[in-house]
Amino acid sequence: WQYSSSRTLEGGVRSAARVPLGLKRKGLRVVVTGGAGFVGSHLVDRLLARGDSVIVVDNLFTGRKENVLHHGGNPRFEMIRHDVVEPILLEVDQIYHLACPASPVHYKHNPVKTIKTNVVGTLNMLGLAKRVGARFLLTSTSEVYGDPLQHPQVETYWGNVNPIGVRSCYDEGKRTAETLTMDYHRGANLEVRIARIFNTYGPRMCIDDGRVVSNFVAQALRKEPLTVYGDGKQTRSFQYVSDLVEGLMKLMEGDHVGPFNLGNPGEFTMLELAKVVQDTIDPNARIEFRPNTADDPHKRKPDISRAKELLGWEPKISLKNGLPLMVQDFRNRIFGDQKDAGD
Ligand code: NAD
Ligand code: UDP
Ligand code: UDP
Repeated sequence: WQYSSSRTLEGGVRSAARVPLGLKRKGLRVVVTGGAGFVGSHLVDRLLARGDSVIVVDNLFTGRKENVLHHGGNPRFEMIRHDVVEPILLEVDQIYHLACPASPVHYKHNPVKTIKTNVVGTLNMLGLAKRVGARFLLTSTSEVYGDPLQHPQVETYWGNVNPIGVRSCYDEGKRTAETLTMDYHRGANLEVRIARIFNTYGPRMCIDDGRVVSNFVAQALRKEPLTVYGDGKQTRSFQYVSDLVEGLMKLMEGDHVGPFNLGNPGEFTMLELAKVVQDTIDPNARIEFRPNTADDPHKRKPDISRAKELLGWEPKISLKNGLPLMVQDFRNRIFGDQKDAGD
């Protein structure tokens, strides 16, 4: 069974129907908040390719028009420059709610704005979903586990989060967004989905967003030293963006609320990551140690058993195979070939 909604031409809700798999599925009207950003723009590509109509709602804080420019002539694509902290009226079937800066450098830049985006922005998108009867998917984060005391992290783990730290605007903001999502589900019978996304990389990441993969790749290409924070023994698990987009779509179309961890269980220390970057770009790239940032989680690795079992999803692209695809895009953007990147 595959989800589909039938609507009147004017956009009013007729009924939410389920279409048996195999029957031709009508294009949906889908909102992607944050659709001009890194992950959102790849999701938009996939939704348009399968025949949906897509409205991107984005204030372009960290997103770029260039990420969606190639859809300019497509009548099924529309972009609205709008801040989700303000209410908005739209008629749609599904809402992928991604709007929120994701890099620590960006979300710490204006923490009050970050928490408003997570709380008021999510509230508005849930209010919109409730009014039109749309299905709502929240992109939460592995940061809800904080500096985890359980390893790897399972969805049932409640986390170890500092409520008053410099990361709290993001991790506590996302925890509240999850709470709101579940309260609308229970209280207003809204159809919701929650994804907890682990570190993701790929083409179209902001070049200077301060995240570790974008930093190392840009540094190696520019012949600058790779900046390893702390002792470099902290770990992360890196997922290629197309795997994430596949997981988000399976989650939206499936029957389970979640939360679901969406990440690649391949775990690397930052020093190991630096080695993969050296092997891929420049074996002579030097490493420079810098002081670490406050509240940095020591380790992070998803347990993805739940997504494997209930969504039939698991990542396919290893760091070794995914990194060169991102490097090509960064090379083009850093050295002047402004051609937009594909997947
Ligand atoms: P990104 O910064 O590239 O994209 C975020 C987008 O949201 C940008 O286009 C930005 O302009 C837009 N935005 C921010 N605040 C907004 C507001 N108030 N109103 C409207 N638009 C706004 O980041 P991304 O990596 O593509 O992340 C997308 C989502 O996935 C975020 O919600 C993030 O928390 C989540 N996530 C990402 C990762 C990752 O590793 N990339 C990990 C965990 C969670
Ligand atoms: N909202 C919105 N678009 C809509 C419907 C609601 O932006 O189409 C906003 C609305 O302004 C409110 C929030 O979503 O701030 C929550 O809406 P809800 O109807 O759940 O709550 P209420 O308005 O009753 O407080
Ligand atoms: N990091 C690093 N060098 C950099 C940027 C980040 O060593 O140039 C480290 C950072 O301290 C953290 C890890 O890389 O331990 C991941 O950081 P990132 O900002 O990419 O994402 P996070 O998982 O912390 O949100």
